[in-house]
Amino acid sequence: MRKLAAGNWKMNGTSEDLAEIAKLIDAHPKPNCEMLICPPTTLLSRMADCAKGSALRVGGQDCHAHASGAHTGDISAAMLKDAGATHIILGHSERRADHGETDATVLAKAVAVQASGLVAIVCVGETEAQRDAGTTLAVIGSQLEGSLPPSLTSAPDGLVIAYEPVWAIGTGRTPTLDEVAEVHSFIRDTLVKRYGDAANEMRLLYGGSVKASNAAALFAVPHVDGALVGGASLKSADFAPIVAALAAS
Ligand code: PEP
Repeated sequence: MRKLAAGNWKMNGTSEDLAEIAKLIDAHPKPNCEMLICPPTTLLSRMADCAKGSALRVGGQDCHAHASGAHTGDISAAMLKDAGATHIILGHSERRADHGETDATVLAKAVAVQASGLVAIVCVGETEAQRDAGTTLAVIGSQLEGSLPPSLTSAPDGLVIAYEPVWAIGTGRTPTLDEVAEVHSFIRDTLVKRYGDAANEMRLLYGGSVKASNAAALFAVPHVDGALVGGASLKSADFAPIVAALAAS
């Protein structure tokens, strides 16, 4: 399995920030893992141009479930692919909260991404209230049940799950390593029940306040096959050591 270090720039970045991409490529010309940045759509095709011929892949942060049509302001998986995307993040908790995305919405988008031949990174995660109530695994189980496509239409690396506790995103707080291990092992078991042995080859990412100082410990947790990184992906100086920790794990 090729592990995946994915950066999510969210609504950050303008032309001048493309300089970070050159630095990241310089830091990791041939990383021993997959390396991805998902910039805002305005930068996607220029970032893909900067990354051409390098090990860096670029991706989208969301897409519409339809391939084309009367959907003002939306972008399809096929359009993102045309702009140079190889991966698309789906169901990020900020989209679920800010745009009312449900599991059914995420499922429809995941099917669209599969149809486009790109890699879907489907995010799941509990809120702090849900963790405090002891319902974390039930919440994750229900999100997986509702958000994932019925079958794997490509190799198992075409569908990636990112476990991102909502309360850990952008807060500097992370679950304990035992808590991460419990959820990742639950996700693996759930995927194997659903897709069979091929699911052992699916990448499970941890996301939520990953930084250089905690990356190696997180990557040593069983079934953590990479990370989805927000804030620490914006600067190469922060993201490159995370990539290095994953490559060494
Ligand atoms: C994210 O938004 O996917 C994320 C993990 O953010 P951060 O790394 O900043 O917590």
